[in-house]
Amino acid sequence: MSRTAAKILRKLTEFLSRIINTSSTSTSEYRRDRAWIEVSTENLKHNIKTLNKITPEFCDMMAIVKADAYGHGAVKVSSFLNKTGVRAFGVATVDEGIVLRKQGIRGEILILGYTDITRLDQLIKYRLAQTVVDYEYAVKLNSYGKPLKVHLKIDTGMHRIGIPVTEAEKVCELFRFKRLTICGIFTHLCVSDSTKEEDIQFTRNQIRVFYDLLHMLKQNTIPIPKVHIQSSYGVLNYPELNCNYARIGIALYGTYTSFGDRTKLKPDLRPVLSLKTRVVLIREIEKGDSVSYGRTFLAKRNSRLALLPIGYADGLPRSLSCETGKVLIHGQYAPIVGRICMDQLLVDITDIPEAALGEIATLIGRDGVNEITAAEVASSSGSITNELLSRLGSRLERIYV
Ligand SMILES: *Cc1c(COP(=O)(O)O)cnc(C)c1O
Repeated sequence: MSRTAAKILRKLTEFLSRIINTSSTSTSEYRRDRAWIEVSTENLKHNIKTLNKITPEFCDMMAIVKADAYGHGAVKVSSFLNKTGVRAFGVATVDEGIVLRKQGIRGEILILGYTDITRLDQLIKYRLAQTVVDYEYAVKLNSYGKPLKVHLKIDTGMHRIGIPVTEAEKVCELFRFKRLTICGIFTHLCVSDSTKEEDIQFTRNQIRVFYDLLHMLKQNTIPIPKVHIQSSYGVLNYPELNCNYARIGIALYGTYTSFGDRTKLKPDLRPVLSLKTRVVLIREIEKGDSVSYGRTFLAKRNSRLALLPIGYADGLPRSLSCETGKVLIHGQYAPIVGRICMDQLLVDITDIPEAALGEIATLIGRDGVNEITAAEVASSSGSITNELLSRLGSRLERIYV
């Protein structure tokens, strides 16, 4: 087979797989038989609009869709964002980038983390931009033999990845590398969520040394590529910065990282994700009976329990066991009793006599006047929303409403 024929065949296969993927996204009821995630595209759209209003006009959103778009489904979310005009995406790994391209996502896709040198051909094939994680890495990229699209990461104090901001000559040197197409330069703030005075000082210093570096580049007649600094909290607490991109993750999904976080701007962001399951079994136990592994729950009264077919293998933290976590059934709170198992858990519905078989139980989201937010669940389990959402399992159906 000729190379052209092979190429056409590949494109055709990709196209067909895209069509098949789209048609399997019906919201038919049978996909809500066990445990599922509902993604509100309406709220997603609202959040994009709201966030775009906060940032300066020339600043575009780079939607961060790593870790399957924080559990929301990267392909679906990115296609939706593409349709609403978002043209830049951030992922963590080369494979995440490839999946998006194969599904037809257009625009800039930046890999925010390290990519192994053995994968550089895929960067070109799938038109992915790579973050330069340090100077030596840039040397390796430059010696690959073909031009690569990159964004330079500058370390201004987080000390994770990036070229130290103090090594200005090395940064200048990178702009003379023949085979690096430098499309962006960026840094990452590590305490931009904090309202403590010393953290604000630290952040201001990160911003200052970064702009000093850009100033130095300009003095050396180096054209400045796209500049980006802020992630969600950077935008919410330092909205005035002059950047070409804002790398927005958690805020796009309509939630704060930590429960009770205060920010300078308080835009009306709406939660995009709900986590739901169904009551599949109801049972009565007697006062003194124990429940689940370890017999940690002893009924203080004759009780009515509901079995929910969701467990820690679905990403629900096991630390929500033993009345630490709760669900909403019939608009009312029911505590999780006993230990959460891998695939199922029990809740106490003694005080919700109207709760019936087949009814929906909400683990994250709204039911009537009551709501359980992702930030609350994360906080009860000793974590942050970003971790909770990104670990929601692949066994859960994602339904787009
Ligand atoms: C994950 C990530 C973001 C997004 O952070 P949020 O707090 O979710 O907005 C931005 N920039 C980089 C480099 C990241 O790794």
